[in-house]
Amino acid sequence: KRRQTLSIDDYYNGVIENNLPVVAQAITLIESNAKKHFDISQELVQRLLPHSGNSIRIGISGVPGAGKSTLIEAFGLMLCEQGHKVAVLAVDPSSSITGGSILGDKTRMEKLSRHQNAFIRPSPSAGMLGGVARKSRETMLLCEAAGYDVILVETVGVGQNEVTVRSMVDFFLLVLITGAGDELQGMKKGVMEICDCIAVNKADGDNIIRAKSAMTEFNNLLHYLRPATEGWASRAITCSALYQDGIEELWHLIETFRQTTEASGVYATRRQQQTLEWVFGMVIEQLKSRFYSHDGVKRAIPQLKTDLISGEITATKAVTQLMAIFDEVKL
Ligand code: GDP
Repeated sequence: KRRQTLSIDDYYNGVIENNLPVVAQAITLIESNAKKHFDISQELVQRLLPHSGNSIRIGISGVPGAGKSTLIEAFGLMLCEQGHKVAVLAVDPSSSITGGSILGDKTRMEKLSRHQNAFIRPSPSAGMLGGVARKSRETMLLCEAAGYDVILVETVGVGQNEVTVRSMVDFFLLVLITGAGDELQGMKKGVMEICDCIAVNKADGDNIIRAKSAMTEFNNLLHYLRPATEGWASRAITCSALYQDGIEELWHLIETFRQTTEASGVYATRRQQQTLEWVFGMVIEQLKSRFYSHDGVKRAIPQLKTDLISGEITATKAVTQLMAIFDEVKL
């Protein structure tokens, strides 16, 4: 049976009422790369925008196996039981490069996904890194308009992902485990500098002492770094997602973070900054897409590549030529 095409009003009302099938369809629209979906999804986001913003946005990163999904399930279930509405989104740009997804393949967060207060959405798989970021951000706004007041954005701790997610959340949590090797965990200074909290997970059984000492070590390191959020001292904690230990404390910490940064104005300022970055990021994305889909540019590229490789023209000249073709001016 063919699916009924929804009007913009249908989408809008469905999202506002948190009609789950419509919410899911609206996100599919946002994630679509088809030109015909772009205009309607942009109009939808535009109309939903006034209803968005009413949530705490939490980014969660860590290497595969650190326990992110176990933690999100425990944390999400606790919040749902408290009456919160929790949306879990994944940002996994690797899926667009490898075709497979690090985050999405296994059956994850089964209990949470069945809870009526929870909504789980895997990563959009198509498009470039920037594209995934735009789509995830719009999906986040849409979830807020649907009434979700806690948004968890999960990502794998590789490459550029963390920076991308940091640019769309209020609070950034890094999940680590002991003994995985620092280089393996991407423990570069850069990653520590963007997180508001490090959770040393799997602090249970024989591992408690090691986890506690790792926590102390991280706290010492964090002490010397520039804080990720002005006026907030980033700190390390231990937890056990499996035994639901330290999960309440984590939420308490995040609430304290929110109160502190709201009072200082940092919370609102960061969101404004993020909106600006988002807009100009989209400008670049659209320019890029227009450039590469320009007929003249497409025709010219193969020959230019050959000429570049053979040394027939210089890089600068190639750029000038391409831009002239794009601008449709005669050199
Ligand atoms: P992800 O790849 O980061 O999402 O990690 P998972 O949540 O899938 O967890 C990887 C493995 O670690 C699974 O076998 C989990 O059961 C286990 N695990 C997760 N959290 C804990 C924990 O707090 N303690 C222990 N002992 N195992 C855990």
